[in-house]
Formats: sequence, structure tokens, C-alpha cells
Amino acid sequence: MSFPSHSDNQARSQDEGSATPNPLARLPSVDKLLVDAGFAPLIEAYGRELVADCIRTELAAARDAVQAGGDAPEITVLLSKIAVRAAGRIRPRLRPVFNLTGTVLHTNLGRALLPEAAAEAVWRAATRPCALEYNLGGGERGDRDSLVEPLLTEITGAEAATVVNNNAAAVLLSLNTLAAQKEVLVSRGELVEIGGAFRIPDIMRRAGARLVEVGTTTRTHAKDYESAIGARTALLLKVHTSNYAVVGFTASVSTTELASIAHARGLSVMEDLGSGTLIDLSRYGLPREPTPQEAIRAGVDLVTFSGDKLLGGPQAGIIVGRRELIQRIKKNPLKRALRADKMTLAALEAVLLLYLDPERLPQRLPTLRLLTRTEADIRQQAERLLGAVQAAFAGIAEVTVVPCNSQIGSGALPTERIASHALAIRPAGKQSGRKLSRIERGLRLLPIPVIGRIADSALLLDLRCLEAENEAEFAAQFAQFRLAAD
Ligand SMILES: *Cc1c(COP(=O)(O)O)cnc(C)c1O
Repeated sequence: MSFPSHSDNQARSQDEGSATPNPLARLPSVDKLLVDAGFAPLIEAYGRELVADCIRTELAAARDAVQAGGDAPEITVLLSKIAVRAAGRIRPRLRPVFNLTGTVLHTNLGRALLPEAAAEAVWRAATRPCALEYNLGGGERGDRDSLVEPLLTEITGAEAATVVNNNAAAVLLSLNTLAAQKEVLVSRGELVEIGGAFRIPDIMRRAGARLVEVGTTTRTHAKDYESAIGARTALLLKVHTSNYAVVGFTASVSTTELASIAHARGLSVMEDLGSGTLIDLSRYGLPREPTPQEAIRAGVDLVTFSGDKLLGGPQAGIIVGRRELIQRIKKNPLKRALRADKMTLAALEAVLLLYLDPERLPQRLPTLRLLTRTEADIRQQAERLLGAVQAAFAGIAEVTVVPCNSQIGSGALPTERIASHALAIRPAGKQSGRKLSRIERGLRLLPIPVIGRIADSALLLDLRCLEAENEAEFAAQFAQFRLAAD
């Protein structure tokens, strides 16, 4: 333990019989606290080193307080402060929250939730040796892609498939494999930026390919592609406009037409679908989103999409398409740097297996379960919870049940909204704006933080993503709600 030198001097002068007793001397030492019976349970729970570290921090704070004229704290007070500090130190930073933002696939809140079967598969893969790259038939080295490739080709109709860390990696790897040192044509209407960090021009540069913009932001025609094709052109790229829609007097070239332009000149066409969904969502009453199956049928040579968007699986980037191109991608050294890990592959396999039974998919796949919840079901849930939430906000704000709109999120169907219901928390009186932000922060301080969204001077808690099994836990913690400090 290191004391500031002046307090060492003070302590010494007291030992030498100074007239005024030094209050610092009343503070216990780290070693004394470590053998104090009261600390034994803490050491048992957190380990000696972590507790010693917390003791040092609290003793330093106590010394500062004493030097500022305060009293030395009792050991019991120190003990409870150290207990709180130690608990805080081991509390995971990655904490569960209630996503009541109304955005089902919220990138900042972890996107898709895994179905139980996938979580169990992850657990098994993580805790036991598994045949990740081992061919159990021949007893020799295998290919990790072979675990999910048959399922992906069966579902999408593509010849071959491979999986990497996320869709940004899938796009980077595909471009680097097919178009390094060459030109890639992209419509100006499709030069997307997603989540602030995924920008087509930047990815293109990092992949070593040269972007050639064709057409205009609102209108791109076949002849724009045709006239831009040159000796260095390798690829025509179509990018799904994930987080916006170009509306009005617009024109774009269909995937089928783009494929025939490319193939007539011996070039390839690739489509970054972004979200992609392996099933036509309109069969569940949801808006349509393009599928990799359609892209493959339209003649696209390579399709990339995310695992944790509408597909409802783990974070992954999936590439499906022509065998020869997938082979080249697998041989690219970047593939090794971007490969998916065993837990991802375990989860992805389990999720893909669910797609073999589309009828029961809305019950089994959380993303689809949340998206297909009816407005009436959500309204009833809001009415059930109203009393508990009103009680927590008595004298602070008015709480009502209001209709609202959820969105899919993560770039799927950016302009579509799904009717839902919310608990609206609306502070009354003066300074209601400030109170609203104190409410919003107060909800984030709950044991399981509640994240809503602010609209029209109210905090909306859209209940679409509150699953029945978590409802009681959600309601119970409102008793602990406190308005956050200003
Ligand atoms: C979301 C998205 C990406 C990035 O996918 P990640 O899986 O987040 O890496 C790329 N392109 C499009 C069109 C997207 O919508």
C-alpha cells in the first residue's frame, strides 16, 4: 500500500507522541481487512486479489475524506462499500436489456435473437470437441463450410456456398476475389452507407477494386451499364438499398436484365442483398423482401447476405452462387482471416434446419415470431402491464396505451411499418422535456435496462419485442424505478 509521503510523516509524528492524534492512523490496513472475518465471504465470492484491489481503492477514498476533515469510516461501512465495488467489478458489461425501441432487428441491441435449438447447438460446440473440420466418414481433415453448405444450397438453389464473419466481410472477400485490380460497375442509386461504417466505395477500395459509377441517383438504365463496360471490367454489382428507398420518377435495371448484360460479355454479376430472407415473408402476412433464391433464379452469379438480419440467425456473412466462383473465394487467403467460428456455424446450422419446416417457423424463429405478433396481441399485453407501469410513474408522468408502428430494422424493408402498440410515458407540467430525459435514463438504470424511443414528447415502450416469458420480470422491476438525477 502506498501512502502519500506527507501522511507517512504525519503517521510517524503521531507515533512519536504528538499531541493531536492522527485520524489517518485509525484506518485499518489492507492486510488487516483481508483477515477480518467479515471479509471472508467476499474473498470466497470474488477471490483475494480482486477484494484486495477494491480494499485499496476504498481505503484511498477514505484517506482523502479524512484529510479533508471527515471521520474515519467504521469497518462495517468499508465492508459494504467494498462489497458493492467488487460486485460491480465482476458484473458483465454485455448485459441483457429490454428492446422496446420498436425496431426488431436493432443493430446496437444485438440484432436477431437465436432460437433455443441454436443456443443449445452453440453450447454444445463451445463446450465439447466437435467435428468442425473433420470428415467423420473418411477420418480425415474436412472443410468447415461443408457443415452448412448442403443446407444453404438446398434452400437457395445455388450450386455452392460459403460463410464468413459477417456480410461486410462477404462483400469485401467477394470483391477482392473477383475484381482486384479490375473495375466494378455500380448504379449511383445503390452507393449505400450502412450503419455509418459500411460504405460501398470504401469497401471497394479496400478490396482493391475500382468503382465505376453508372447512371444517376434516381435513374439508371441498361445502356448506362453497357456503355461503361470496358476492358478492365470484371463485375457488375447490384446493392440492395437497405436503409432508404428511391421513390418518385425512378428507373433501375432488373436483376435479370443485369445478368444478361454481364453474361453476354463474359462478366459476372453479384448482388449484395443485405438482409435477405430465405423465405417469402408475404406467406406470413409480412411485406416482401427479396430472397437469394430469386437472385439465383434471375442469373446472379454470387449473392451475399447477413446471418443475423431477417434470416434470424447468428452474425455471419453468407455467400451463395456459382461453384467455380465459390471455389476461388475459398482459396483466397482473406477467407482464412474472415472465416466464421464454430459457434457461429453451430448456430447457423440449427437455424437453417428450422427452415426445412416453414409452417412452424413463426413459432420457432424469434425474429419471425416477433415480426408476426398481431396488433391485438400486443395491445392486450400493453393493457395487462398498464397498471404496474402507471403505479411506478404516479406523480411523475401519465402512462397510456397508444398505437404505434414497429419497423424491421437492419436495413430490411426500410419504408415498411408494422402496426403495434406502446406504453406512452408522458411527463406533464413545466420542464417536461428535462423530466422525460430523466425518465429515459431512470429506465436504463433498472436491473434489466429498458430501452424505448422518444416521440412527440413521450417515451414510447413498443411492446412488440417483449416476449410473454419475460413479461413478469419486466413488470416486477418497475417497482424499483427511480427518476434519474438531473
Ligand atoms: C447490413 C448490410 C450490410 C452489412 O452486413 P453486416 O452483416 O452487418 O456486416 C451490407 N450490405 C447491405 C446492403 C446491408 O444491408
